[in-house]
Amino acid sequence: MKNILSLSLVMFVFSCAAQNKIEEKSIKTSLEYLASDVLEGRSTGSIGIEKAAVFIENFFSENNIKPYFETYRDTFNVKDIIGYNVVGYIEGNDPGLKDEFVILGAHYDHIGTAKEVNGDVIANGANDDASGTVAVMEWAKYFSETKTNKRSVLFTLYAAEEMGLKGSGHLAERLKSDSLNVYTMINFEMIGVPRAEGEMMAYVTGFKESNMAEKLNSYANAEIIGFLPKAKEFNLFKRSDNYPFYKSFQIPAQAISTFDFTNFDFYHHVDDETENMDFKHMTNFINKMIPALEGGMINASTKEIKLTNE
Ligand SMILES: [Zn+2]
Repeated sequence: MKNILSLSLVMFVFSCAAQNKIEEKSIKTSLEYLASDVLEGRSTGSIGIEKAAVFIENFFSENNIKPYFETYRDTFNVKDIIGYNVVGYIEGNDPGLKDEFVILGAHYDHIGTAKEVNGDVIANGANDDASGTVAVMEWAKYFSETKTNKRSVLFTLYAAEEMGLKGSGHLAERLKSDSLNVYTMINFEMIGVPRAEGEMMAYVTGFKESNMAEKLNSYANAEIIGFLPKAKEFNLFKRSDNYPFYKSFQIPAQAISTFDFTNFDFYHHVDDETENMDFKHMTNFINKMIPALEGGMINASTKEIKLTNE
């Protein structure tokens, strides 16, 4: 009896470890740095965002994720400010599918400073959008290790989202002028805090634009992605980095978020800090998305995710 118990204990521990392919510790380490005061709120053109860009580049290079362009940086200007998107690339392993690209993205810039509270003016942007940035970095590392992606994947971190989607706008136009064959794009925005119990874990903006939510849930074999009426009311579909890709390519290009206007009081606030993130939730979300991304979106033999009007 004792042996059976200890064996089942070992199996239980093993299955828990195997469940999370991406570890909380790594997620936390990256987020803590990106949202630290040293980066001064990652305003585009600042010394702080430069540190963030170098951090992401180092993470990519340490994990054998190649640059898509000559370097990791896709450079653009916003008036006299120079901005950099950071773009990593993992080529697909299927000769027939690797010319089709899936783009995963998030913005790594933030607003720099915000209204002072108790002497603090740094808007750290832990949830907005270091959380999405870290998710994209971790998936890049995951696919670099597993090499399971049949389609090619671009891992894209944008600057100047907060200046009006300038970084993503630049990259979308550049890839469009290169005639890149892009299948889908998902932008991850504010995934650092969970929704209330009983609510769907996340939602997609532009829910009715495509069958993205339905397909991702069926690939994941779980109800992860739902519809948020407030996202429609505020037209969030057009307010983040997915939209330039939709405009340029006319493809399913949507944002996924777990911020629902009731679960986080610190949007563009100095208290959008690491200590207010829920790392259990983030780890759970990032891992739950893997089968949706890998099993279905990246590896399905045909383009099953389609715009509604196609
Ligand atoms: Zn954001």
